[in-house]
Amino acid sequence: MFLPVNTTHRTETAPDFRDEEITSFVEIFFNKGRQFIHTMGSRLTPCYLFEPAVITDRAEKFKRAFQSHLPDTGFYYAMKSNNFPDVSGTILKSDFGLDVSSGVELELALELGATNIVFSGPGKTETELDMAVMNNDKVVVLMDSLTELKRLEERAARINKKIRTGVRLTTEPTGLWKKFGILPENLNKFIQAAKACPHIRFQGLQFHSSWNMAPEKQVKFIEKLGQILGALPERHRGMIRFIDIGGGYWPEQGEWILETQEMEKQRNGRGKAIRINPSTPIEHFAEEISQALFLHIHNQINCRIYFEPGRWISNDAMHIIIKVMDKKYDNLVITDAGINAVGWERFETDYFPVLNLSQPAMTEKDCLILGSLCTPHDVWGYRYWGEDIKEGDLLMIPTQGAYTYSLGQAFIKAVPPVLSFP
Ligand SMILES: *Cc1c(COP(=O)(O)O)cnc(C)c1O
Repeated sequence: MFLPVNTTHRTETAPDFRDEEITSFVEIFFNKGRQFIHTMGSRLTPCYLFEPAVITDRAEKFKRAFQSHLPDTGFYYAMKSNNFPDVSGTILKSDFGLDVSSGVELELALELGATNIVFSGPGKTETELDMAVMNNDKVVVLMDSLTELKRLEERAARINKKIRTGVRLTTEPTGLWKKFGILPENLNKFIQAAKACPHIRFQGLQFHSSWNMAPEKQVKFIEKLGQILGALPERHRGMIRFIDIGGGYWPEQGEWILETQEMEKQRNGRGKAIRINPSTPIEHFAEEISQALFLHIHNQINCRIYFEPGRWISNDAMHIIIKVMDKKYDNLVITDAGINAVGWERFETDYFPVLNLSQPAMTEKDCLILGSLCTPHDVWGYRYWGEDIKEGDLLMIPTQGAYTYSLGQAFIKAVPPVLSFP
């Protein structure tokens, strides 16, 4: 699906459905931006602006969507999607636990007072496992292999503590995703081995498939899981108290991708166009996934269903505010921050509107919005929304809460500070 954003003729052409989607997004964030400036003034730039209320709102909405279908649920925020401590601190108050993937994340979770933590990921070190075992009242270890089972038993035996565990199942047995978990056909043997470990309390299963614009992939694996459970001996099936179905829910606005030059040429287009990969509301995910769970899992066992959303929770809770330092040409400005703030060349492929908060207008104009790093790959955008653009203007790139702050790095410039609003 292609949306040519033809700014010069915007007012003359009837906006299509996609066009409206972006326009209303821009309108919402111009309004928010005005509040930000009003409250925080010139302290704003450059910064990450964090809205705790958005986290709370998303957390409640996510819970409600699934709890309205399922009797027994547990929710864990995937800290890696945004590891700013207040994001996790805020969601803990919404009765979420935390999903951590390393010792560093586990340490932060414990510092924040989390009492309900799942610890997943391949290749956990002895030090990481020790930290989990030491906190066995708060941590469930989602084991990644037979080797890890043996290692965890050994570490737990050293201090004579028992640890609650589950095992991750591989969802894709070929390609790079096969690095995660054990093959489903080896589950029975794995449970057998876990039972032989006196310090391991085996209680559940986990899987995770990322980047879901719709629930099909999750539904398909749940169906497969039904067959796997059916093939287990009754005594093993009965040990399963939870099934953790991971994260990977894409926000409803979908994915906005910039057309490549190649695609532009083919289309004979001028300027950059946007391709939208549409996503689905979380209620739809909830409906389809819950139905699959009733059909394939709950017909065999009663267990709690765990969720590990990351991106869906954190995406809308942070925005980036930068300032124009230099207008070098009519169509090229330099800002006070670089894309080291997001840690990758995001805006060369992803489209997010750049809003000129100092001169708001509902038109988008061509202009290279570049950062101040010593690399040409330091691009915030190819256009901006506004009347005009000049030195000193404050620009906002909305909804930068997922996989940006966590990936930000001190490269030439420091990662901008986070300011909380209100
Ligand atoms: C990354 C990850 C998540 C969160 O994924 P999102 O796409 O951000 O929802 C959840 N569980 C596991 C095991 C992960 O690795």
